Amino acid sequence: MKDSVSKTLFSLSAVDRDIQALTTRRTDLENQRRDLFNELSYVKGRVVELEGLHREAESRRVLEEHRYHDEEQKITERRRQLSAMGVMKNVKLVEREIDIASRSLESLQKSFQDAVDSASALGSELSELRERLEKVQMQFENTAQEAETSLTEINKSLAAQTAEHEALMAKVDERLSNLYNKVNARYPGEAVALAKSGSCRSCYRALPAQLYNQVIAGNRLLQCPGCSRILVYSDNGDE
Ligand SMILES: [Zn+2]
Repeated sequence: MKDSVSKTLFSLSAVDRDIQALTTRRTDLENQRRDLFNELSYVKGRVVELEGLHREAESRRVLEEHRYHDEEQKITERRRQLSAMGVMKNVKLVEREIDIASRSLESLQKSFQDAVDSASALGSELSELRERLEKVQMQFENTAQEAETSLTEINKSLAAQTAEHEALMAKVDERLSNLYNKVNARYPGEAVALAKSGSCRSCYRALPAQLYNQVIAGNRLLQCPGCSRILVYSDNGDE
């Protein structure tokens, strides 16, 4: 690139590519940190919720255990009564009571077992969740710390590159800077395309001869008909 406007345009492009990459990286870091924070809040909330459910299940288990043992004791009591009676008088009645109590005992045993199972299931779920919480907490703390350091660096570089962008922008006239901003908004950091051997080096579209000649002549306000990038002529290989 011989002339200074072309140089400025390419420098601008390079600076804006950097700005774009830094901005993307910053967004990624912020998203990552936010995602972990959300997961952490979710797991924390879920642990609290499960702790409540587990406490309820435990009290239910204790209650069911008492009801079961009370009924069991009642039956034992009736049996003792029955064997002490000896006479036939009330035997039928007591036997009937025992029969009813036995059936009731069966259903109490089932309730008790249900309470034991659900308390134990909640207990395992809770301890798994606590483990997960610990992991997420650690991951979050590490990531937050790393992100903090990286973000400081990124923001420093971004400030420097933004200043460089402003300085370069001040070198080009208003029409060109307006055009550049418009194209750069569409292709961040990729607003400038090399015109070489009659075609655009960004989209490889062949340029009409008249347009190509105008680009060679140094007109800087011409855009590629294929990709709309600002065309800059190059007679050497790279850049
Ligand atoms: Zn193009």
